Order: sequence, then structure tokens, then C-alpha cells
Amino acid sequence: MSARVSAAKAGKALAAACDNVRPGAADDAVGAVVPSFVAAPSSTAQASALLRACAEHDLAVLPRGSGSRLSWGVPPARCDVVVDMLRMGAVIEHAAGDLVARVQAGARMADVASALATAGQEIALDVPGPATIGGVLADALAGPRRLRYGTPRDLLIGITVVRADGTVAHSGGKVVKNVAGYDIGKLFTGSAGTLGLITEATFRLHPRPAARAWVTARVQGTAPEVTTMAAAMVAAAANSPLVASAVELDRPAPGGPISVGVLLEGSADGVAARAREMEGLLGSLAQVPVSVAAPPDWWAGIPTVEGGAAEHTLMRVSFWVSRLGGVLDAIDAAARETGLRPAVGGSAGAGLLYVTLPGGAPGEAVARFAGRVRAAIPAGRGSAAVLAAPEAVRGALAGTAGLAGTAGLAGTAGLAGTAGLAGSVPGLALMRAVKDQFDPGHRMAPGRLTWA
Ligand SMILES: Cc1cc2nc3c(=O)[nH]c(=O)nc-3n(C[C@H](O)[C@H](O)[C@H](O)COP(=O)(O)OP(=O)(O)OC[C@H]3O[C@@H](n4cnc5c(N)ncnc54)[C@H](O)[C@@H]3O)c2cc1C
Repeated sequence: MSARVSAAKAGKALAAACDNVRPGAADDAVGAVVPSFVAAPSSTAQASALLRACAEHDLAVLPRGSGSRLSWGVPPARCDVVVDMLRMGAVIEHAAGDLVARVQAGARMADVASALATAGQEIALDVPGPATIGGVLADALAGPRRLRYGTPRDLLIGITVVRADGTVAHSGGKVVKNVAGYDIGKLFTGSAGTLGLITEATFRLHPRPAARAWVTARVQGTAPEVTTMAAAMVAAAANSPLVASAVELDRPAPGGPISVGVLLEGSADGVAARAREMEGLLGSLAQVPVSVAAPPDWWAGIPTVEGGAAEHTLMRVSFWVSRLGGVLDAIDAAARETGLRPAVGGSAGAGLLYVTLPGGAPGEAVARFAGRVRAAIPAGRGSAAVLAAPEAVRGALAGTAGLAGTAGLAGTAGLAGTAGLAGSVPGLALMRAVKDQFDPGHRMAPGRLTWA
């Protein structure tokens, strides 16, 4: 809140716009920033009035879904109003015949899933049930089945947003082929709350599969055979005509065994037959135990290490799948050089791994680790972004900004600057222009993406 605006005056304006406004409390803090107000609109119209009031009083705004990942990215530089979306939790329309659903952005994934399941359908994103539609879109999160169904970007066909000045904008609609106008949905996917408030989204749905099977293999041995073998299994499973829905990898400790898991979905008979073939395919690559069973306990999770999650550093490493072996070797080498013990896992078959580094790791060691991993990924063929890190680590990462290949949270070196959640961003100038267009006053989650 600017010094010009008194809290009482701002509070009055917010209360006139929205029927659910309260003072911010310690529990509402994002990083160390406690908001002055928390407002929970019940409709797009109320959200619009609310953001207009925020614009008129120069208030910085931060959208919040379930609040589970507000620690990702850089804490906002200022935050006057948290917009709590949990009152907007309805499935507005489920057109089962068209395989399309329109939902409010505060709806939790689990609630949406149960509503759609009555017609045997789903949004094919495996993210935790408490997460909201808006949070999943704003963080661009997808789980294992991204390999077959894509990410929120691919499943989103329409969106309603409220811009920073309160203007309501719609894009797309209820049909899968929408061609007219700018695709605002794609801009807002991954925007981390910095462009505006998502209030509604329309998704294409898929039928829930009748049967599922998980084929898992455990590879162990000495480097580099173990990473080479795991990479060969991932490539074989992802490229095979057996149509895997997901090909995941788990390595809880550097240099240790690697588990590869493959999900097959379809009719009961078809899945059973394809699972047997997949078992044969993986088994033919190496003499390792391969089994068909329920999902392994590490499935669809972000890899964990001991200690409190708030203190961990979490990286998202994306790469061409053909480079998987090299990326795993680079992570091992970085672990040896820095003495850090990362846990690694994720959608290897889709070219994405999460790397969790233990809390308490010295910032300088984490910065060296990140630099080593980034150096293994050729320019334009992936990125290694730090999604979340404690303050000391963020400071160390920012301090390396001048060194080519080891810059900032995002891995973008030198003049291009750093790009927070987004990773290495070749089109940084364009993204800045988009930000300026949607939020000229830079009041939406200011500072969240370091460049925005
Ligand atoms: C494979 C996988 C496994 C995961 N496992 C876990 C897990 O075990 N535990 C866990 O807590 N999380 C896990 N996550 C992350 C989880 O999916 C996120 O916590 C969740 O998507 C965030 O939703 P949220 O409603 O909590 O968003 P929030 O944390 O509230 O917000 C996240 C971001 O989105 C912005 N935002 C929220 N709503 C809107 C909106 N309506 N408009 C614009 N911006 C908005 C916020 O400002 C913030 O920047 C996992 C993710 C994946 C992909």
C-alpha cells in the first residue's frame, strides 16, 4: 500500500466491492510479507469489483488457491491484498457429451474429480487433490500422465480472467477448436499470479480408463551403467507402440538404484496384455527385477529428502529425453562436487525431473550444484529452474548472476537477466511486454518472477 493511501480508506473500498474482507493475519504471510487484507470474492463480478478497488487504491494483489505452494518462486516484494479463491469452488457446467467442463478457479482438484467421475470422466492431470484449478494453472503443474495427455496448457480450452484494473476478459470457449482472438489461457498458464486473477477455466476431459497397470523395474549397479540402463528403459518405454500414459523415474539418493515406472491404461484385457509386453520389453534390456503391480509408493510425488519441506531447494529440470542419461550423470557429478545429496524423480519419459536438495545446504553449494546441472543442458534444449529455495540459497543464486550459465534462480545468464519460476527464457523482452500490457502498475504479485 502506498503511503498516500490510508488502510481504513482502502479497507472501506474493498468491503464495498466484496462481501468477504478481513484483516490479514500471520497465517496469511507469503514469505515474510503479511498482507493488510484478505478478500474472498464469490463470483467473477465480485472479483472484478475487488481488483478495480485495488487499482484505485494502488494495492498490490496476490491470488491464493489452497495456499500449498505460495512459497514457490520469490516472495512478493509487497502484498496488500491476498485474494482467496476458495469461495469460488463450483463446477459450473459439465457437458459430458462434449467431454468438456467449466469450473471456477477456486475449485479443488479432488472435488472436480469426484463431480466428473459421476460421468466416468476426468481432467487428466495428476496433481494433489487439495490444489485448486487456479493454482494448478498458475503454476503450470502436471503429474505423470503429462506424457500422454499433456499439461494444463494442452487441456485448457477456455479461460476467464480479471485483469489488474478489474476488466473481465474471456478467451476460448466450450469447443476444443477455438481460433478467434488471442489465447489468453496459454499466457496465464504458468503466470504465477503475475498477470491477473484466473476466475474460471474450461477443460477438455478424457474418459476415466477402465483399467490401469504399473510396470516397474529397479536398476542398480555402478556408474555410468546404471544411468545408461535407466535412460535406455525410459526411452524404450516412452517410444514403444504399447502407448504408455506415463514413464516415471525415482532415484532417492545420488549414485544409488534407479526405479523406472510405466503406467498403462485402457480396457482390462488390453492393459493386461500390454503390461506383459512392457514387462518383457524392460526385462529384455537388463537382468533386473521387473514387476506389474499397484503404483509404487513414490508415484506422482515430488521427491522428498529428510527435514522440513520449507527449507528444501526444489529444482525443475527439463531436457530432451535423449539427454536423460547425461542429465542424470550431471546430477551425480554435481552431488559429488558439492557434497549435497539430492533426491531425483519425475516424468523422465516426458523430459522432466524434479530435484530436491536437503534443507540446511549452504547457498554457495546449491548455486554450484545448479550451475553444474545447467551446464549439462545445451542452450535451447531445456532448463534447470529453481522453483523454491530458502532465502539464503536464493541470495547465493542471485549472487552468481554474472557468471555465464549459473545465473540467478532461473538459469538465464548475463544480460538476459533472471526469470524466476519460468527458467531460462529466450523471449524475456516479449514476456516483459506482456506483463506491462496486463499489469502496467506491476501490482499483481510484484517481484514473484524476478523479472516481472
Ligand atoms: C507431480 C506433482 C506432485 C506434487 N506433490 C505435491 C505435494 O505432495 N504436496 C503439495 O503441497 N504440493 C504438491 N504439488 C504441487 C501442487 O500441485 C501445488 O501445490 C498446487 O498446484 C498449487 O495449487 P494451490 O491451489 O495450492 O495454489 P497456491 O499455492 O495457492 O498458489 C500457487 C500459485 O498460483 C497463484 N494462483 C493461485 N490461484 C490463482 C488464480 N486463481 N489466479 C491466478 N493465480 C493464482 C498464486 O499466486 C501462486 O503463485 C505437486 C505437483 C506435482 C506436479
